[in-house]
This record gives sequence, C-alpha cells and structure tokens, in this order.
Amino acid sequence: MFKPYIYITLFHLLTVSVVIAEENDALVEKECTRIGSKLGSVNIQDCLDINLTATEGRSVKNAPILLKEYPPLQRRSPLGKVLLIGGIHGDEYSSVSIVFKWMRTLNQYHSGLFHWHILPLLNPDGLLRKKSQRMNENDVDLNRNFPMHDWENTALKHWIDITGRNERRYPGEKELSEPESSWLVDHINEYNPDVIVAVHAPHGIVDYDGPRNAPYKLGRLHLNLLGTYPGSLGNYAGIQRKIPVVTIELPYAGIMPTNKEINDIWRDMVRWLSENITEEAYIESQHNNQVAAPS
Ligand SMILES: [Zn+2]
Repeated sequence: MFKPYIYITLFHLLTVSVVIAEENDALVEKECTRIGSKLGSVNIQDCLDINLTATEGRSVKNAPILLKEYPPLQRRSPLGKVLLIGGIHGDEYSSVSIVFKWMRTLNQYHSGLFHWHILPLLNPDGLLRKKSQRMNENDVDLNRNFPMHDWENTALKHWIDITGRNERRYPGEKELSEPESSWLVDHINEYNPDVIVAVHAPHGIVDYDGPRNAPYKLGRLHLNLLGTYPGSLGNYAGIQRKIPVVTIELPYAGIMPTNKEINDIWRDMVRWLSENITEEAYIESQHNNQVAAPS
C-alpha cells in the first residue's frame, strides 16, 4: 500500500541534511576567509582543504568555533583521545598557525594512532578583530575563566591581589561566564579526552598539569613548570579533573618556528602521547624502559 508520509519523511530528512551541510560549508568558508586574510602563515585555500566543521560553539560575536576530527580508523584501535587547542589567546598568532600546519600533516598521514579533536582557534573574536587581543570580545581572559571553587576568593582575588587588576588577565565576573570557555567545557564533557594539548606563545617552554610524566622536551622547548593560575585550563582540566594538560608555549607570538622545529615538536609530542596518553600506555612504557635499560 502506498504510504506517502514515509516518502515525505525521507524527503524531509534528506533536505534537512543537505541544508545543514550547506550551512556548515558557508560558515566554514566565511571563517577560513577571515582566518586566511588575518594570518600570514595560513592561506584561505589551505584552510578550506582541511575540511573543518562548524561546531555549535559560538563566540560572543557569534563566530563558530571550528573543529577537525581525525577519527579512529578501522585497521587499528587508537591509543587514546587527544584534544588539541590553538588560539585561546587571540594575539598569539603562531599558536593558531602551527595547529593549521599540524592539521595539514594529519590530513595526509593520519594513521589512526590517536583519535583527534582539533580546535585551531578557540577565541575567534580576539584574533579576528582589527587589532587582535589576548582576551575575547568581552575583555575576559578565557584561560582564567574555567571553573574554580569560590570564584570571588580564588580567581577574582588572584586577579586583584597578584596581577594588580591586569586587564589582560581578567577572569570574568564568574566562572564560565563566556560562551567560548563554557562551550569548551561542554565539549570536554562530551568528548572525554585522555589528554589535552593547548598551544600558546611566547614563553618558549613546555608546561604541564596533571597525572603521569610531564614531557621534558618537545623540539627545542624544555619543560618549565610555570605554576597554575586559578581559572586556567591547566588548573581546571589538569589538576581538578586529572586530565593531563600539555601547554606548548612557542617562543614568539608573531613569528612561526622553522619547519624543522614545527616537525620536531610534533614528533616529540606524538612520542610522549604514545607513552603517556592513558594509564595503560604509561605502565607499558615504564615496563619497556626498564627492559631496555642496561643492567
Ligand atoms: Zn596564551
């Protein structure tokens, strides 16, 4: 018997998915054009070729937060899930550009070793304004806006007493007051990463919060524990939630490392991830190192 409603439903479903795909493409094209026009090291076509997705995350000015997923492949189960984030601070150009370089590498060579979620630019408003700024559009430092118990006496007090109300470090009126940080926490809850890697500049070091072994060297960047600040991602995810957070601080905000250094940081990061991404990987690497050590 002819059931017209079935055909209508299917037709609607197809139409809806086509419209969603078209909307996504339009949003990504717009953002790639803006990012490619702003950053000397990212061109518009390279950005488009990566095939990013516009998430439901939105900035204060309604720019979509872009995501690229490199999913598990059929031939091997991944060692774990990595969340890689660039551009938390809008004036740290190199932190966005290097993530684009690494996405180009993964577009070519993703082997299924890890399951990746990559957010090249968490703070689009900070980067894509006429004069880029560290903070988001509400002048909040997103890397001080993450959950913290007793906000007034921790994050706010630290900002007033220790930074002397430095406007570049303003943590916001309350935790997760900002759409970008709030969406990121939702995303962490949903994706449940084993490790988070956040890229910043310009301290030229590696910082680390969380359980297991810190990476002592990535490329030419050496481990230097800067201490954790109330409301920072390292404090929230690394200390409070025990998700290892690797913070890569590139040496310059406006100058990219050499191609060799970009590749060296990547290689060392992949090696560290392989040995530390999960408790099991960590135990196994400890065992292997012991076996390999001369007696
Ligand atoms: Zn930063």
